[in-house]
Amino acid sequence: MKNFLIFGPPGSGKGTQSVKLADKFNLKHLSTGDMLRAEIAAGSELGKKMSLIMAKGELVPDAVVIEMIASKIDSTKGVAGFLFDGFPRTVAQTEELEKMLNARGMKIDCMLVLDVDHDELVKRLILRAEQSGRPDDKDPDVIENRIDVYKEKTEPIIDYCRRHDLYYPVDGVGSIDDIFGRLCAVIEKIK
Ligand code: ADP
Repeated sequence: MKNFLIFGPPGSGKGTQSVKLADKFNLKHLSTGDMLRAEIAAGSELGKKMSLIMAKGELVPDAVVIEMIASKIDSTKGVAGFLFDGFPRTVAQTEELEKMLNARGMKIDCMLVLDVDHDELVKRLILRAEQSGRPDDKDPDVIENRIDVYKEKTEPIIDYCRRHDLYYPVDGVGSIDDIFGRLCAVIEKIK
């Protein structure tokens, strides 16, 4: 099993690329954002609480996403590995994930980082808001806050991955297929 993190600021294209990569390499795509939105759609108590945090562009508590991920890891069979999208988002989540994988005889093998500049991100998120209906994409202040939260809480994971030789940056600007090709080239080398 090989386990990949796909990483980048909001709007960097993680979700789009993850679906394609999971399909090509038989990886289980685990997106904590999708899982949280499913809780909200189902109207669960957890979903109700988390929606208030997500609407502001803040991070939900580490324990909530760690619990979600652990149960998915344990219930998934027959894949070549996992592709974590939008998780981990803090250094604490990264350390927890590493522990969780180690306890199951696995590890983090590679962190794919999509590099996209700030203006391009804001442009994409405004466009996505028109199509996706996601409330956290509608308000420019919430978009800016999510990018700030990314810089402050999530970007430090890059240092962690550099220290552990897991850091693979990829140019995230271009056509979806071009970026997909760049990501595939990295994964082919790791396999
Ligand atoms: P994006 O990458 O566009 O910000 P996501 O779908 O990954 O979108 O996440 C949407 C929101 O869900 C985040 O802004 C945050 O509130 C919450 N969220 C998702 N994953 C995590 C996580 N690993 N830790 C904390 N909060 C999370």
